[in-house]
Amino acid sequence: MKPQELKDEVAKRRTFAIISHPDAGKTTITEQLLLYGGVIREAGTVKGRKSGHFAKSDWMAIEKQRGISVTSSVLQFGYQGKQINILDTPGHEDFSEDTYRTLMAVDAAVMVIDSAKGIEAQTKKLFKVVKQRGIPIFTFMNKLDRDGREPLDLIAELEDLLGIEGYAMNWPIGMGKGLVGLYDRVANRIELYRDNEAGDKYLPLNADGELDSSEPLTNESIYRDTLGDIELLNDAGNQYDLKKIMRGEQTPVFFGSALTNFGVQTFLDHFVNMAPEPGPHRLLDGTELSPTAPDFSGFVFKIQANMNPSHRDRIAFVRIGAGEFERGMDVTLTRTDKKLRLNNSTEFMADSREQVQTAVAGDIVGLYDTGNFQIGDTIYAGKTPVEYEKLPQFTPELFMRVTPKNVMKQKSFHKGMQQLVQEGAVQLYRTYTTNDYILGAVGQLQFEVFKFRMQNEYNSEVVMSPIGSRVARWIDPDQLDEKMSSTRNLLVKDMQGQPLFLFENQYAERWFADKYPDVKLTAKL
Ligand code: GDP
Repeated sequence: MKPQELKDEVAKRRTFAIISHPDAGKTTITEQLLLYGGVIREAGTVKGRKSGHFAKSDWMAIEKQRGISVTSSVLQFGYQGKQINILDTPGHEDFSEDTYRTLMAVDAAVMVIDSAKGIEAQTKKLFKVVKQRGIPIFTFMNKLDRDGREPLDLIAELEDLLGIEGYAMNWPIGMGKGLVGLYDRVANRIELYRDNEAGDKYLPLNADGELDSSEPLTNESIYRDTLGDIELLNDAGNQYDLKKIMRGEQTPVFFGSALTNFGVQTFLDHFVNMAPEPGPHRLLDGTELSPTAPDFSGFVFKIQANMNPSHRDRIAFVRIGAGEFERGMDVTLTRTDKKLRLNNSTEFMADSREQVQTAVAGDIVGLYDTGNFQIGDTIYAGKTPVEYEKLPQFTPELFMRVTPKNVMKQKSFHKGMQQLVQEGAVQLYRTYTTNDYILGAVGQLQFEVFKFRMQNEYNSEVVMSPIGSRVARWIDPDQLDEKMSSTRNLLVKDMQGQPLFLFENQYAERWFADKYPDVKLTAKL
């Protein structure tokens, strides 16, 4: 690919993830987006998560028909000349470190909030990770067709609970049964929920942001209420600030109803225009690598185990950070300095027979992995070695004590444990004095996958006894006194030998902080 061509291709990429609490409407919105992308023709194609992920058969059929990659975790489609990549972040049963790490591979995030519920626990957790990255966050306040909370409250909550300014791009006129439409502050028009008698979907606003007085809607009290809200937003609300938006300090807020497909296209159109194309990526040596650098490089952000016991292979998901990916290319794995040929049997990418597509910076490719890759690995083509900065570690919240069922099989137990931990499937800790194994994860599913894989891949049956949820806090070894440990704050060490306490809860942590005011405790992300 010529340099200019690569530049143009990269500039088309919009790679993002949708973060939300289960049931806020992520699947429904994703489906609407796919409709606009021309990927599916009918709503209902994407099956709800409750029945277990997207229905595979549907996906495969869609994939064949429309030539998109939907197989695992990445949805790709074209819209208004842009290539959209949506990275799936699993819902709560599937919640794991993968969910967090996926957020390391996107350039923007869309936060979907149920307008009746406001900001919920999982949204808050995911938001924290996105915020840390300083990437733009777009907000969609969903379910406007139902009676929800006051829009002004919802905006205030963004600031109060998440610490991000909200800027309302549009504003609901009514809600639930009384939903009339959206007051669009950007396009300066009203978008009607149901077309009026003349068949109009949009009503223009004048320079003062008001409807022509002949419009019947001007007689409705809901219209005047809306004008009052808009005045309040203009006078006392946040000022629109694109720079802040790009840094993730202000979030553009859109209202709508995914189920009735209202406001979704308006959102998408703005999103496509505002969301950034892939930017430079930071390398381990502190420099930055431009996405249009000629040589391919990328990093592994997720490894998905194939749960089918007859296939042991895994898929390593690689975010392309620079250059173009080509089938059959030779790459170097930075960690081992090993050369790998990515021949056809070891790779798949977003593509099909019908659509000729290329994968460039911003895209995700999947590589069949027979044990070469670890999470965070860099691969690069070309002569100059590349190493992307380390992926952050996330503080686990759930813990399990784990032992081999058969003590005669210690060897396979240790081997499996070592490899799975290296791969980043779970975090391993040892108790300080007795060296017992303790596993940490951010979601229950990680333990289940661990147990399954120990049995199936390493022939090691494990016994797990839950410790439950704990607050993990690291302590400076110089400040540590083993007498500080108790049942309420179990002392363990991590893989690097660093000591940390697993506090029973926040109260136990506070109690500790009161008792040892000089001791500094730190959390990871
Ligand atoms: P997810 O768990 O975030 O993927 O949520 P889903 O998209 O599966 O939606 C959860 C439930 O909310 C489903 O029953 C949807 O039909 C419903 N839902 C999603 N969007 C809307 C909406 O805009 N209005 C209403 N009334 N229900 C919605």
